[in-house]
Amino acid sequence: MLLPFDYVRARSREEAVDLALRAGADGKFLAGGTDLLVRMHDRQLRPQMVIDLKGVSGLQGVSCCDGEGLVIGAATPLNRLIRDEAVRSKYGLLAEAAHTVGSLQIRNRASLGGNISNASPAADTAPALLLYEAEIVTWGASGRREIPVGEFFKGPGATALAEGEFVSQIRLPVLKERSYGVYLKLGRTSAVDLAIASVAALALEGGEVRIALGAVAPTPIRVKEAEAILRSRKDEGAIREAAAAARRRAAPISDIRASKEYRLEMTEVLAARAIEQALAGLAAGGR
Ligand SMILES: Cc1cc2nc3c(=O)[nH]c(=O)nc-3n(C[C@H](O)[C@H](O)[C@H](O)COP(=O)(O)OP(=O)(O)OC[C@H]3O[C@@H](n4cnc5c(N)ncnc54)[C@H](O)[C@@H]3O)c2cc1C
Repeated sequence: MLLPFDYVRARSREEAVDLALRAGADGKFLAGGTDLLVRMHDRQLRPQMVIDLKGVSGLQGVSCCDGEGLVIGAATPLNRLIRDEAVRSKYGLLAEAAHTVGSLQIRNRASLGGNISNASPAADTAPALLLYEAEIVTWGASGRREIPVGEFFKGPGATALAEGEFVSQIRLPVLKERSYGVYLKLGRTSAVDLAIASVAALALEGGEVRIALGAVAPTPIRVKEAEAILRSRKDEGAIREAAAAARRRAAPISDIRASKEYRLEMTEVLAARAIEQALAGLAAGGR
């Protein structure tokens, strides 16, 4: 059973910030509620005020402007994102990663903004956002800010958001080259479970290969050391070296899902597979 709380549907960005600042530590933003309401039910969180962001303008939907990339409203449900033609055709790695979140029912409610604001090291959309070099657009007491996604995650459950500040949009910069992305997620079961380890690889036509890891460090991380190895060589040996570099960069913990040692081992295995598949996908035509 949920404890009593006040529910307020914010009508504007300013109202949402104002309510959150007044509620302070007793306030929580709500998007899909798939994480927040579970934690409230389990009494891990006991907010006095829940501020619903879904009706705030600019927080819903995907807009695509030629030459300027993509703008995704933070409260956009993952299933809407997955079905969006612009996302599928140009940022397929994000659609693929979003598709691994929970179940169909969860994805009907769960938002992209909620997935990153949770700041779980295992957040499935985070590695893709790191590789597309997303900008996190926020709204707070001092107005609008743009935070590079690489600076957004500060630790498990911690983000760069200030008190009263929320994520309003996620901007994906334009990708001029053809690319092919692959997201490999290992869970205890094949569905409805958080990752034990995950790897995203994005191969770009110009020769760059980007790599990011989830669930194996305090935050999702990009592995530039592995990317550097693949800059000039993409043979089997280079892929093995890059995968080993990914393993060295990982700093996992042991928990109920898996041991630290297993996570390290699987990071290397998944990294090699993801890189191989991304390169093969690009060679076959990319997106
Ligand atoms: C059964 C189940 C399975 C799950 N499986 C997965 C999985 O496989 N992979 C995965 O990554 N996650 C999983 N989750 C976690 C969760 O569903 C996702 O992280 C989801 O994307 C959260 O989005 P939401 O809109 O529901 O967030 P909410 O529950 O509404 O909010 C989550 C947190 O973010 C804050 N918040 C929400 N929106 C904003 C915003 N715009 N700005 C600032 N703060 C905000 C809230 O205050 C709250 O603290 C699962 C959850 C359940 C219950």
